[in-house]
Amino acid sequence: MSVGERLYSSKVPASYLGADQDFKLKMVMMSCLRVILQASPCKALWRRFQIPRSMLARPCSLYTCTYKTRNGALQPLWESVDLVPGGDRQSPINIRWRDSVYDPGLKPLTISYDPTTCLHVWNNGYSFLVEFEDSADKSVIKGGPLEHSYRLKQFHFHWGAVDAWGSEHTVDSKCYPAELHLVHWNAVKFENFEDAALEENGLAVIGVFLKLGKYHKELQKLVDILPSVKHKDMLVEFGSFNPSCLMPTCPDYWTYSGSLTTPPLSESVTWIIKKQPIEVDHDQLEQFRTLLFTSEGEKEKRMVDNFRPLQPLLNRTVRSSFPHDYVLNIQAKPKSSTSQVPP
Ligand SMILES: [Zn+2]
Repeated sequence: MSVGERLYSSKVPASYLGADQDFKLKMVMMSCLRVILQASPCKALWRRFQIPRSMLARPCSLYTCTYKTRNGALQPLWESVDLVPGGDRQSPINIRWRDSVYDPGLKPLTISYDPTTCLHVWNNGYSFLVEFEDSADKSVIKGGPLEHSYRLKQFHFHWGAVDAWGSEHTVDSKCYPAELHLVHWNAVKFENFEDAALEENGLAVIGVFLKLGKYHKELQKLVDILPSVKHKDMLVEFGSFNPSCLMPTCPDYWTYSGSLTTPPLSESVTWIIKKQPIEVDHDQLEQFRTLLFTSEGEKEKRMVDNFRPLQPLLNRTVRSSFPHDYVLNIQAKPKSSTSQVPP
C-alpha cells in the first residue's frame, strides 16, 4: 500500500461520510457563530471555541497542517474537526521572550541522523513531507528536555503566501516566513509512530524558523525536487539526505508541552523550538509556493498559508536552555552574551 493510499484509507467515521447535508448546515451555523464570537469582547471565548473536542485519527505521519486560508476557507482536513472546547495544551503558541524561564537543568540536544534512512518526498495535499525509515534507532535525537531517545519519522514545512507570515510559532509576536518541523517519536515507550502520536511524551518535534537572507545550498537539494511532487498524492524517491544541514549552528532552544498542529491535535508533543533561524532566499520560498493543494486534473489551488492559528499558552511555562535578561518575569542586569539578542 502506498503512502497516499494509507492516508486515504484512514478510519473516517461512517457518520461523517454520510452526513454531507448535515455537515454543510453545521458549517453555515458555525460561520454565523464565528462572526459573533470574533467581535470584541468575545475573543477569549472564540479562542476556546477553536479547540476541537473529538479527534479524527489518520494514519499519516504529518497529521496534516492546514487549518484555514487567509480568506477564511476551511481546508478539507479541518472540516471534520468539531470546533468546540477541548484541550489546554494546544500548539502553536506565541513565545514571549520575557515570560520564558531559563532552566539551567536543560541539557544540550544531541542530534544523530543517518542520511541513508531518508526515503522519499511526497505531497499529501497540505505540505510536502520528507519521510525516514524508522524501524531502528538509526536517526535519533536525545538529551535536551527528553528522557528517552526519539526516532526521526519525517520533516515538513509550514509557509505563507507572502514573506510577511508563514511560521506556526511566533516569537514576541514576530512571524517568520516559514517554519521547519522535524517530527520524532518515542520508540522506548511505544511500538509505532501512530500510537506515540496520540499519547503524552509520544512525540518530540524540533521547530526551526526560516528567515529571508542568504541562499541555502543544502535546502536547494530539496527545492530542486519539488516540481516532481507538485500535485497532491505525488511521491518521489529522495535518496540520501541529512536534515542536520537544516539546523542552525546555535544550540539554544525553548521548550514547552503542546500538541500536534493538525488533526487529531493530540497533546503528545514536547516542542523544541530553536532560537536561531536559518536563512533561505526569496526564490527558494517561492518554489515552496509553486506546490499545489490539489490533485492533477482538479482546479489548481496553491499550497500556501498551511499553518494553524496561535493557541493560548494558558497554564504552561516555556523554558529556555539559555540564560537571558528575564528570569521569572524580573528583568536582570544586562550581560554581554549574544544569546540575549532576540532572533
Ligand atoms: Zn508541522
